[in-house]
Amino acid sequence: GERKREVTRFEDDSRETAARMDSTDPLAPFADEFARPGEDLVYLDGNSLGMLPARTAAVMGRVIEKEWGERLIRGWNEKWLGLSRRLGAKIAKIIGAGEDEVIIADSTSVSLFKLAAAALRRMPGRKKVISDTLNFPSDIYILQSAIGLVSSGHRLELAPPPAGKLNDAAWIAGSIDGDTALVSLSHVAFKSSFMYDLQAVSAAAREAGATTLWDLSHSAGVVPADIGRSGADMAVGCTYKFLNGGPGSPAFIYVRKDLQEDLDQPLKGWFGCERPFDFDLDFHPARGISAFQTGTPPVIAMSALEPALDIVLEAGVDRIREKSVRLTAYMIYLFDEWLGPCGFTLGTPREPGCRGSHVSIRHPEAFRICRALTTPRREGEVTVIPDFREPDNIRLGAAPLYNSFVDIWTAMARIRDITGARIYEEYDGERNGVT
Ligand SMILES: *Cc1c(COP(=O)(O)O)cnc(C)c1O
Repeated sequence: GERKREVTRFEDDSRETAARMDSTDPLAPFADEFARPGEDLVYLDGNSLGMLPARTAAVMGRVIEKEWGERLIRGWNEKWLGLSRRLGAKIAKIIGAGEDEVIIADSTSVSLFKLAAAALRRMPGRKKVISDTLNFPSDIYILQSAIGLVSSGHRLELAPPPAGKLNDAAWIAGSIDGDTALVSLSHVAFKSSFMYDLQAVSAAAREAGATTLWDLSHSAGVVPADIGRSGADMAVGCTYKFLNGGPGSPAFIYVRKDLQEDLDQPLKGWFGCERPFDFDLDFHPARGISAFQTGTPPVIAMSALEPALDIVLEAGVDRIREKSVRLTAYMIYLFDEWLGPCGFTLGTPREPGCRGSHVSIRHPEAFRICRALTTPRREGEVTVIPDFREPDNIRLGAAPLYNSFVDIWTAMARIRDITGARIYEEYDGERNGVT
């Protein structure tokens, strides 16, 4: 399948070749759907915070002035009550689930906590919870919190990937056994971009009778997870990365249909009730996926998310993935041509089927190189925004809806020049806030 597919070849490393690829790119027109910052900027951080869709900016004025300002409390019955499910159904299309299997809920962290605790309560007899050392550390903290709350003697095991070799996920399947309650992994690893074979790992877990909980934060909107057919049990994911929902936009929860009634989610609130406005002192859970809600959903943030999801649906996740693979392959091609020789190593798998939509390049001076990219000091230099992850990773996100091949060419050429001429030496290495 895709995991073994041949690496894409490129003609040469000229800017003209990059421009030619843009001229035949079917997704190129989607770049106009996004607000252009008023500076010369190459934005390669869509894996952390997606760009603002122009239609979101237009919609928000109406939402605030008309829906909130004029309709006031009437807005709930007219529109807002149904938003979590309606947007859930759109995300379901994006990740390949049924429309009654996905709902917008709280943040990714809180959603992960709810599902992990529910899964552990369902299997108090099995003691192992499996994740890996590639996972987003916050997910590990959350799993530990859930284990603590459930208090049934579960223990977290973090499988370390074999040194330098990520491409065969047998190392994780090998640790799933009859004592495993839960396998909780990121589909695409936040640092290396390593992508699991979601289907194969879910199948191995199911075979062993374990429950799977995937974090799709770095794949939703850019890799077709095909979650419904994968045999996976549950998933959560972020909407402010490749789904472009805006800073802090709410996460989504996926629970396989036939598991929904079996899970007892630990944060029961009125929005998880069958009839919240009965104000019954006894909790009667809603049927199906709605039971995974807790309190009042963030209406303004959901309103900003909807137009962003529509753009992804219009472009189609399969086409987005196709371009993503080409963009990241092009990064790796230019890396080999230009950056390997200046002391960089590649931190991301070369097989397209084993990586998500960002490429990590590693260099001992990565932090200062990043600073030089984001804050150029010379006249006429383009600003490039990737991000930095400790200790030595520069993450270059490829967002196919708005990044072009010329964007990639420009960024890679800047990295080459900054490193080659040691321009980074003009910057200090102090870390402040978000990196
Ligand atoms: C971005 C990301 C999150 C973010 O969680 P929040 O609750 O939104 O802070 C969680 N997990 C992974 C794997 C992520 O990439």
